[in-house]
Amino acid sequence: MRIILLGAPGSGKGTQAERLADTTGMTHLSSGDLFRQAEKEGTELGKLAKSYMEKGLLVPDDVVIKMVLERIAGKEVGVILDGFPRTLEQAESLDEALGKDGVDKAIHIEVSQDELLKRLSGRWICRQCQKPYHLVTSPPKMTGRCDSCSGDLYQRPDDTMETAMKRLEVYFKQTAPLVDYYRKKGKLVQIEGEKTIEAVSKDLLAKLHWRRDGHTR
Ligand code: AMP
Repeated sequence: MRIILLGAPGSGKGTQAERLADTTGMTHLSSGDLFRQAEKEGTELGKLAKSYMEKGLLVPDDVVIKMVLERIAGKEVGVILDGFPRTLEQAESLDEALGKDGVDKAIHIEVSQDELLKRLSGRWICRQCQKPYHLVTSPPKMTGRCDSCSGDLYQRPDDTMETAMKRLEVYFKQTAPLVDYYRKKGKLVQIEGEKTIEAVSKDLLAKLHWRRDGHTR
């Protein structure tokens, strides 16, 4: 089973991918997390990715495609791809690599632009476990500390207002056309994303016909 999560920055796709992986036992693979990890390790890939990420731009297709396809090659268990593909070229490369059936489902989490901007500019993330918080809607119990692991909270440099706006512009121009790409293939699952995290998860599992105990109906 190969599932991809489509959705603008701030739509909650990372959170939902994590929850879906916990419920189903599938592997969660986030291209953004891979880049942030590479940046932390100071690798050449990390330095290259940083130069695009800090401007709110996409990392070039050839670099991303190579990185993600290497990660999923030969994976026995199912994979949830979060943040990949983000361009038509990436989607076509993924289909080619997966063979004639391509991905099983493309989940599109829909959230309005106003709400996306609000969410991104108030978002703080745990440096240790990556749990997201929002200064207004879901603040941590103790300022600057993660409720789950007591890790430091930080604001992603690409979540500042200016970069967030650029990321949304890039999303609507380069990634949003993938919604139609997967609709035409009969793979699209639409999810209304302006609800609580719990309600979105429930909806998602129902639309995938997945039960909470990890079995399909
Ligand atoms: P994310 O954590 O998914 O919001 O990704 C953070 C940043 O990583 C993006 O703004 C891009 O600069 C880069 N990135 C992540 N995934 C991709 C991708 N599939 N294609 C190009 N750039 C990506």
